[in-house]
Amino acid sequence: MMKRLCSALLLATCFSAAPALAHPSEDDPATAHFLANEAILVTAGETRILFDPLFSVSYGYPLVSPEVRAAIMAGTPPFDGVDAVFVSHVHGDHFDAAAVNAYLAAHPDVILVGPWQARIDMQAAEGWDAAFEARIHALPFIASPQELVLAADGVADAIRVETVHIPHAGGAGRAGIQNMAHRVTLNGEATVMHMGDATTETAIYETHHDHFQARTSQHAFPPYWLIGEWGGDATRARLNAEAVTGIHLGNNHPAWIAQSEDDFFTEAGETRPIPAHSHD
Ligand SMILES: [Zn+2]
Ligand SMILES: [Zn+2]
Repeated sequence: MMKRLCSALLLATCFSAAPALAHPSEDDPATAHFLANEAILVTAGETRILFDPLFSVSYGYPLVSPEVRAAIMAGTPPFDGVDAVFVSHVHGDHFDAAAVNAYLAAHPDVILVGPWQARIDMQAAEGWDAAFEARIHALPFIASPQELVLAADGVADAIRVETVHIPHAGGAGRAGIQNMAHRVTLNGEATVMHMGDATTETAIYETHHDHFQARTSQHAFPPYWLIGEWGGDATRARLNAEAVTGIHLGNNHPAWIAQSEDDFFTEAGETRPIPAHSHD
């Protein structure tokens, strides 16, 4: 299909021509669309979610382009019909509380799922409206995995969320940051995982072995440093993911990225198809 060949600039135009289907199919699989840094749009038929889409600080990482940012805020294709926004953590290269407030104000049907810290920041930021509370799932800062079921497009369980706190990379100095790894299943057919700035320290993944083994992700989007530290095979095994694409590459890539046989999102507008679960 044409839309998979679209460049970043053409993304919106191409998507507007695609028919909206209730469920992904072989001809129209669920798809991940890379926006910048750790910002990803995942579409599965009519079900659409965004990870870490609204941030304003670079810290040396690419920002979402002004055109794409405007399209997100305006809800123009492919950002029309977004059902939920997921926040991994409140660092400025992932989350801008005032921008998220503005987005929720502009899109009164969108649900926000994120760490407790995100709501605190939003409440203190420009544009906060107490009416948002009903649409925010602020996840407590606890060790145990947490589950949510969200309705979308008239389907009561269109979005299944299984989230666990994985400490931020960088050790004790970042221990106060509530970094959440979201595993999200869309329409019961496509499971993706987004991990924010998860640590490479393996103990926490052993602690949550049962959580990761409980459901296979068709596609996980770990920060690239997990793949760099563990290698692709160990990353897929540890996360129980059939495919992994590394994200959070800076404006200057580490030298090993160019030699790696593993997959990374490096250019805004790149997409990856997400094959449906095999039901056998
Ligand atoms: Zn961070
Ligand atoms: Zn980051």
